[in-house]
Amino acid sequence: MNLHELLHKDELTREEIVYLLSLKNEDDKNLLYTRADEVRQFYCYDEVHLRGIIEISNYCDQNCFYCGLREANLTLTRYRMSPEEVIATAQMITNLGIFTIVLQSGEDHGFDTDLIAYIIYSIKQQTNAAITLSLGERGFDEYRAWKIAGADRYLLKHETANPKLYSLYHNKQKLSDRIEHLKFLKNIGYQIGSGNMIGLPMQTVEDIADDILLCKEFDLDMAAFGPFIPSPNTPYQSKNSGSVELTLNTMAVARLILKNVHIPATTALATLDEDGRIKGLNAGANIIMPDFTPNPYREQYQIYPDRKCLKDDPRKCRSCLQLQLESIGRRVSSSRGDSLKLTPNEIINWSFK
Ligand code: SF4
Repeated sequence: MNLHELLHKDELTREEIVYLLSLKNEDDKNLLYTRADEVRQFYCYDEVHLRGIIEISNYCDQNCFYCGLREANLTLTRYRMSPEEVIATAQMITNLGIFTIVLQSGEDHGFDTDLIAYIIYSIKQQTNAAITLSLGERGFDEYRAWKIAGADRYLLKHETANPKLYSLYHNKQKLSDRIEHLKFLKNIGYQIGSGNMIGLPMQTVEDIADDILLCKEFDLDMAAFGPFIPSPNTPYQSKNSGSVELTLNTMAVARLILKNVHIPATTALATLDEDGRIKGLNAGANIIMPDFTPNPYREQYQIYPDRKCLKDDPRKCRSCLQLQLESIGRRVSSSRGDSLKLTPNEIINWSFK
């Protein structure tokens, strides 16, 4: 079977996925990206959905080896935004015409169940935005309370489908727990997002194939694949960054396999490659997640250093992205960008919640 035929197969085996992920020849990669772009166009059209991120706290109880927010990093100045600051920032984002708010933090139990529920409820009262939570592994009762308060989606990356690597990267957490949390979130009605990190130490291309297959098994609404970037004051500070090429190959193969799923062109990809966002959007992505965390906090959310757009004025972000998207014939969506798996009736119901 030649590459063209392989790229048009309905189902790909693990071996075929590994082969596609490993493509290095420019012509072969261009064929892969072009096919992924066709599949993206079929399922997502030309709209790009913007998700406005607010990093509400950089406290974290965990010690993931790759992350600058890890509890053991005592060099980081920690912050926790007030509910009023979070709600005002959410309003500013929706005033810019962006209708998904992502509330993101480390695993910070200082933001307790009620406080998060209050923030969710207040944002839902004052805006018509969808709310995505990206708060790490929390209690099942908390997930339920936040769903009732109005949260729509939960983003919880599985990071790696290899249980041995998972145990190596995470001090106290287990892959089986993360999978249970994702299943629970899906069962109680969240639209769920997960994904991995490309280029983590000891990861193989077979591991990445398994990550994509795990995303398929979860039947995700959003799947994110971003490159690893080493962060100072972490055990992996002197490791190499993940490869931009392998990240793009992964996004493209994921689009072929997962089909009607949201895939972001990540900020990490844009940090490693000046044109990373555009390259990602041309290789299967349909989402961008700009950071709207206000100063002085945004510089203190150091998962990894020198993030793209860190020093830019977030209020100029939408128009800047719009220009970039128009240059490749894409446009900023004015909708909430709900799951591509919902029926039209379900979308109406979600929008009025
Ligand atoms: S990856 Fe998440 S849970 Fe792990 S240390 Fe960083 S913020 Fe905490």
